[in-house]
Amino acid sequence: MKTQAAIAEKKSGPLRIEEVELADPGQGEVRVRIEACGICRSDLHAIDGGESVRFPAVLGHEAAGVVDALGTGAAQLAIGEQVVLSWTPACGICPACRRGEVQLCRGLKMSVGLDGPLSWNGRGLDRFMALGAFCEQVVVPAAMAIPIGGAVPSTQACLIGCAVMTGFGAATKTAGVRWGESVVVVGCGGVGLAAIQGARIAGASRIFAIDPVEERRAAALLAGASDALNASESTRQVIAATDGGVDVAIECAGKSQAMVDAFNMIRPGGRAVVVGLASLADSFSIPPILLLTEKSIKGSIYGSANPAVDFPKLVALAGQGRLDLASFVSKTRPLAEVNEGIAEMREGKPYARGHDLLRSASRRPFASRRSAPRCLGQQ
Ligand SMILES: [Zn+2]
Ligand SMILES: [Zn+2]
Repeated sequence: MKTQAAIAEKKSGPLRIEEVELADPGQGEVRVRIEACGICRSDLHAIDGGESVRFPAVLGHEAAGVVDALGTGAAQLAIGEQVVLSWTPACGICPACRRGEVQLCRGLKMSVGLDGPLSWNGRGLDRFMALGAFCEQVVVPAAMAIPIGGAVPSTQACLIGCAVMTGFGAATKTAGVRWGESVVVVGCGGVGLAAIQGARIAGASRIFAIDPVEERRAAALLAGASDALNASESTRQVIAATDGGVDVAIECAGKSQAMVDAFNMIRPGGRAVVVGLASLADSFSIPPILLLTEKSIKGSIYGSANPAVDFPKLVALAGQGRLDLASFVSKTRPLAEVNEGIAEMREGKPYARGHDLLRSASRRPFASRRSAPRCLGQQ
């Protein structure tokens, strides 16, 4: 079938809205009509060549929509069902999936090559994170389309597919924040704000938020932080305020110094979790003698999610009004305005948080603008 996609033809170029050919869903696959897709920092990195993707490619990996065709062997989904796309294949047969750690699925790839279901003028198109959701329709394995029950509009539910799951899960799953614990979140972009909400909902008694940008600190307080601190002097302040360190530190800044700071802010026996995406050349060092205090430091990907189980839980929390998804959304645009949305992300306005969203299906011209600041994605 023919559908519309935003194509990244070459590194750093603008995306082109073009008619593309989409193959029918095959064995175990479904076709999803995309209703909304967030623009994430990782999409910008991919355009700039900083993430692994082959051009020409279709980006977009934070999407929700409606199932509109089923391949054979995909009977677990029904036509018309609302789904959030997941970027872990959850293959079910690799060692990680068999252990129940589907966030570590061996099949997880940023680039899936040019011989997938999408093509343009006879050329294959890569699909970022095996999704390529800057497109009106996608064909994906059924395990990557998670039914959520229709309680939350796709313009909000799509955020669960990347930033919200990543931050919320880092707090609640990777770090396993327990009620009454003290938490510090370093870096209050979209993922950091989701981590703050996760810590709040888990019952943290005190949540410190650290960010150099005043507007992000204000957003952190709205998300549930009890204390918002500027970066300078914050490590000392947090240790002093907690009589020796917090139970849990969550690093969402993508900077090696922030990772060391997170480790330094936890108490003996505390847990530091690293979420931020550092550059390949970065490194940090921690004196091993400090490990004698039973401090731990651990990485986190996708919030240690099992999407099939966790996405519906997040939708339920949002439906109850406990998880605030609306505050992440700054603006929605039709797919045709994808370049304008990306340009706004690049401006990096510090007062803004949340994601720009593309509503590829509705084709409505500009849907809404929120006064809430916008976070700019992963970091
Ligand atoms: Zn993302
Ligand atoms: Zn697997």
